[in-house]
Amino acid sequence: MSFPVLPGSAVGVLGSGQLGRMFAIAARRMGYRVHTFSPDEDTPTGQVADVEVKASYDDLDAVRAFAADVQVVTFEFENVPAATAEAVEQRAPVRPSGEVLHITQHRLREKTWLAKHGFPVTPFRPIRSRGDLEGFSTPAILKTAGFGYDGKGQYRIHSIADLDLAWASMNGQEAVTEELVDFECELSVVAARAQDGSMVHYAPSRNAHQDGILDVSSSPFKSREATEIARAVLEQLNVVGVLCVEFFLTKNGKLIINELAPRPHNSGHLTIDSCFTSQFEQQLRAVCGLPLGSPEMFRAAAMANLLGDLWNHGEPNWTGALHHPEMKLHLYGKLEPRTGRKMGHLTVTDETPEAADARVRDARQALGIY
Ligand code: AMP
Repeated sequence: MSFPVLPGSAVGVLGSGQLGRMFAIAARRMGYRVHTFSPDEDTPTGQVADVEVKASYDDLDAVRAFAADVQVVTFEFENVPAATAEAVEQRAPVRPSGEVLHITQHRLREKTWLAKHGFPVTPFRPIRSRGDLEGFSTPAILKTAGFGYDGKGQYRIHSIADLDLAWASMNGQEAVTEELVDFECELSVVAARAQDGSMVHYAPSRNAHQDGILDVSSSPFKSREATEIARAVLEQLNVVGVLCVEFFLTKNGKLIINELAPRPHNSGHLTIDSCFTSQFEQQLRAVCGLPLGSPEMFRAAAMANLLGDLWNHGEPNWTGALHHPEMKLHLYGKLEPRTGRKMGHLTVTDETPEAADARVRDARQALGIY
C-alpha cells in the first residue's frame, strides 16, 4: 500500500458509534469514501458512511473482505479483538497499529507499560482472585482489566467489608485495583502524530464527570506539563493517529495518568467548533499519511454531553437550547435513548473557558424546560 492515501480513496473504520460518525463526516468533507464495520446496522457511522458492513468481529472472512476494499483502516473504539486487528493487517494497514491497540485495550497492560516507561500512574495491583485483594489499602477502585469504558466494570471499595462484593462484581474476570485519587480536577490532552513523526497537540481540556461518564469539558486549561507528557506518550508508543491521555490533577499539583484512548476522545469533541482542525480531521490526516493540520483554538470552548436520560420526559426542547445563537448541536442518530447512553453533545465558544462552561450548562438545562 502506498502512502499518502489521497482523497477519493476508501478509508475503513472498525466500529460504528459517534466517534466513527464524526470521523466519517470529516473524511467525506475531504472527498474520501468511508466504509464502516460492526455487528450493527443503521448505526451512527453507517448513516453517514458510503458502505456499512454488518458482521461479527469474530467473522474473520468478513473482516478480511472489508479490509480488502479499503486503502487504510482505523478504529473508533479500542475493544476490537486482537484476531480481528490481525486479520485486517493481512489486507490493509491499520493505524494506530495493532500493538498500540493491544496495550491500550487492557488496563493492566497499559498501566504496566506506562510505569515501565516512567510515566506517572496511580499505584495499582493485578487482581486475578479474591485472595489478591487482601492487603490493598482502602479506599480503592477495582476495575476490570479489559472491556471497560465510561466507568463500566468498576467497583469502589470504601472499606475491607466491600471486598467480597467487589470481587463478585468482576464475574471472575482479570481486574486491577488502584488507589482512589483525591483529585483537584480531571484533565485530558488529545494529540496526533503523523507517519513522519511530526506531532500536534490540542490545549488541555478540564473534564467534569457524572457517575463515571464525562459530563462537561472546557478548554483551554493551561498545563504545559500535561501536554509534554502526552507528546512523550505518543512518541514512546510510536502512535500514528490520534491518542488522548486522561489525567488526574492532584490537590498538590501532581499529574497522574488515569488512562489512554488510542483515538479521538469525547473531551476533544469541542475541537470541531473551536479549532482550525478538528480531532477527527487530524485522525484522517494522520492515518492517510497527510500533513497534520493546525490544532490552534480560535476561541475558548465548552462541551456538554447529552445522555439518553434527557429523553425521559419526551423529546428535548431543541429550540430552547438553540435560542443561544452560538450554540452548536451535535446528535449522533442513535435510535433508542437509553439511560446513560451518549446521544449527542452541545458546544459553545466564548471569551473564557469558564464563561463557555456556564453557557453550555445553561443551554443543556433549557433542553428540559418547556
Ligand atoms: P475510567 O473508566 O478509569 O476513566 O474511570 C471513570 C471515572 O471514574 C474517572 O474519570 C474518574 O472520575 C473516576 N475514577 C477512576 N479511577 C479513579 C481513581 N483511581 N481515583 C479517583 N477517581 C477515579
